Amino acid sequence: MRSKLNQCNKIVIVGAGFIGVELSDELKKTGKEIILIEKLPHILGLCFDEEISIKAEQVLTENGVILKTGTGVKELSGEKKVNKVLLEDGEVIDTDAVVLSMGYEPNTELANESGISTSKQGCIKVDEYMRTESPDIFAVGDCAQKHDFITRKACCTMLASTACAEARIAGINLFKLSAIKTFSGTISIFSTMIGDTAFGVAGVTETQAKKEGFDIITGVFEGIDKHPGTLAGAKKQLVKLIVGKESNVILGGEVIGGSSVGELTNIIGIIIQNRMNINSILTSQIGTHPLLTASPAGYPLLKAASNAASKTIFNHIS
Ligand SMILES: Cc1cc2nc3c(=O)[nH]c(=O)nc-3n(C[C@H](O)[C@H](O)[C@H](O)COP(=O)(O)OP(=O)(O)OC[C@H]3O[C@@H](n4cnc5c(N)ncnc54)[C@H](O)[C@@H]3O)c2cc1C
Repeated sequence: MRSKLNQCNKIVIVGAGFIGVELSDELKKTGKEIILIEKLPHILGLCFDEEISIKAEQVLTENGVILKTGTGVKELSGEKKVNKVLLEDGEVIDTDAVVLSMGYEPNTELANESGISTSKQGCIKVDEYMRTESPDIFAVGDCAQKHDFITRKACCTMLASTACAEARIAGINLFKLSAIKTFSGTISIFSTMIGDTAFGVAGVTETQAKKEGFDIITGVFEGIDKHPGTLAGAKKQLVKLIVGKESNVILGGEVIGGSSVGELTNIIGIIIQNRMNINSILTSQIGTHPLLTASPAGYPLLKAASNAASKTIFNHIS
């Protein structure tokens, strides 16, 4: 693929999920004309709230990628090789190559041929020990059934991090079951880097939470990831927390910033998995260092929790 694309000047990428966005950003660095097409109103629209996706769009377009959102691809055409892309809104784009970066499904051919039960979504059915319905057969990874930690619904998150977490659970339970070491549901934890800005998300977004029927509040804070913020390499760090109103439990979080975003998103994942609430974040002790972290007085994760807490108190009063 790389050697083919090296010979092209103009490339259309279809689908602005993580892979389409990362591929666009990387190919743009090689000086090519890149057009990224997304059917949803915004890029990364299945994973982030709108305002975070819009920020990602700003970074991507500043880096030179041309975005066309809110319109899908209707037709690819050309003789011998593709050279035209017809969009649903009627626009025709000339191109040297097209990369399709949308859709994925579990590869369960072997399971189906072997008579191992699969779900409606086409995944291998597993229980919380990662056992299939066939004796002595376990399944983990992209092919195995998943249910969401927060919504409790079947979900199709396919991540290496999830696959490895499932594999550890299967390994622990392979020869002797452990009632406390089970897989309690998939927490979607994604992070990505566009240019030098990172974006991360764990659990549900505000939009997803509302759609599912959760009564929620959000807490948002933007700070700086070093202190003082005048230090070389310091970047803004924004944290948004999604909090269940009735329980104050953290259901999700989104982060924008520099390279610390990956690990900060993982911390939010651990907060969600351990059902921590606003209070337990506000009373958490954190370590800080001028070159490595935000200031202890303006630590965005804690300040976002504080912002959410202020809304809770306000709501109790009203
Ligand atoms: C471009 C891209 C970027 C990604 N980036 C990330 C990321 O940043 N973070 C993240 O967490 N996830 C990422 N993912 C997702 C991640 O790669 C997958 O979720 C992960 O690889 C799943 O692991 P797995 O072991 O279930 O499947 P795989 O990694 O696909 O491994 C399955 C293996 O089984 C082999 N196989 C299949 N059928 C048979 C058979 N019948 N007999 C023997 N062998 C067989 C396959 O050839 C393959 O080697 C990315 C995926 C893509 C495509």
